[in-house]
Amino acid sequence: MRTTVGIIGAGPAGLLLARLLHRAGIASFVLESRDRAYVEQRQRAGILEQGTADVLRAAGAGERMDREGLRHDGIELRFDGRRHRVDFPGLTGGRAVTVYAQTEVCKDLVALQLEEGGPLLFEAEALAVEGAETGTPRVRFRHEGREDVLECDYVAGCDGFWGVARKAVPAALSRVFERTYPFGWLGILADVAPSHDELVYARHDRGFALLSMRSPTVSRLYLQVPTETDAADWSDEAIWDELERRLATEDDWRLERGPVTQKSVTPMRSFVHEPMRHGRLFLAGDAAHIVPPTGAKGLNLAVGDVVTLARALVHRRDTGSEELLDSYSETCLRRVWQAERFSYDMTTLLHPAPGATPFEDRLQVARLDRIATSRAARTDLAEAYTGFPLD
Ligand SMILES: Cc1cc2nc3c(=O)[nH]c(=O)nc-3n(C[C@H](O)[C@H](O)[C@H](O)COP(=O)(O)OP(=O)(O)OC[C@H]3O[C@@H](n4cnc5c(N)ncnc54)[C@H](O)[C@@H]3O)c2cc1C
Repeated sequence: MRTTVGIIGAGPAGLLLARLLHRAGIASFVLESRDRAYVEQRQRAGILEQGTADVLRAAGAGERMDREGLRHDGIELRFDGRRHRVDFPGLTGGRAVTVYAQTEVCKDLVALQLEEGGPLLFEAEALAVEGAETGTPRVRFRHEGREDVLECDYVAGCDGFWGVARKAVPAALSRVFERTYPFGWLGILADVAPSHDELVYARHDRGFALLSMRSPTVSRLYLQVPTETDAADWSDEAIWDELERRLATEDDWRLERGPVTQKSVTPMRSFVHEPMRHGRLFLAGDAAHIVPPTGAKGLNLAVGDVVTLARALVHRRDTGSEELLDSYSETCLRRVWQAERFSYDMTTLLHPAPGATPFEDRLQVARLDRIATSRAARTDLAEAYTGFPLD
């Protein structure tokens, strides 16, 4: 088997890359280790930056998003029982975000790929990337019990944090920067209308809480919990009680409860692998970097990477120049580190760390108070939340 760009992974990064290349007339072949249902149902991100929504529209994948997605013009910060709105358009010259679940982005991109795009093989597990330093890299993979080889001009490693692509970069050339946080998020999906029309980020002495949503009838809520927490140890009632405590306000706002349909714990990690390119292998999305979800950046970073990669591959085809491929890693990493910084800032701003001193607790509240009272501080948050430029 042979293709121009071999893509490992059919998450948002791999699927969007395949779509962008298809629109540009560049052949690709996507290998995905899981089945279609898994790819389309795995609950993860839900906030699309302005630039991400624009890219999906330009790629002809924004029709359902525009119909069903919810435009959000701000978020609410809660602390000490008080509510403070951050108005995105007013602070950023008109930018906003769209609430549209990652599952729906993947469903739309899978459907388009199967209808119009190149091959997308489910249950095809990449085993290794070979010859990345040569002009003919290969992906060895297993499908229906048989091993096969995909020969490529370029390989895109879009196979997430646990994938194999990153392992093809020799250890002597890899640099890893990481931080794990001493807490995780217990997340629930619930069949109940969101109790607020925008996301609510709450800092409470008992821990962080987030109220978000997937649609007008489905709420997504999170609680900060110790790292080793087992979701099964939390009854639905205990989760709602704790959410109510942490989200409580001085006014008459009320949290609506409903049937919990899913419950899981997500660890919190920051991770960057440098460089994001080795020879003809390009890493994109979670394969190269992870952010804690507090800043809602993971999916958006994946989109930024593949937009940069698609542009570089088109430039190479049209001009013969490798210039943009050569600068791929550096271009992406500049954006990645801004997202790492923002996600770290949001995480340390809103989560009381286990063992924090009273001094540190007060500082956290002072940082929040600064955002509540300073337009400059709110503008900084709004610019980062709605997204860093894709150029
Ligand atoms: C539990 C959880 C909750 C999250 N919540 C949020 C959130 O609220 N907000 C936010 O912005 N981000 C969130 N994220 C992060 C966001 O979902 C990711 O950043 C995003 O999925 C990255 O897309 P990706 O395509 O790079 O990787 P992935 O979505 O991980 O896709 C990688 C794909 O590669 C496939 N694959 C792996 N190994 C192989 C192989 N060997 N061969 C073939 N295929 C392979 C996988 O099956 C997968 O389909 C969350 C992540 C997790 C894990």
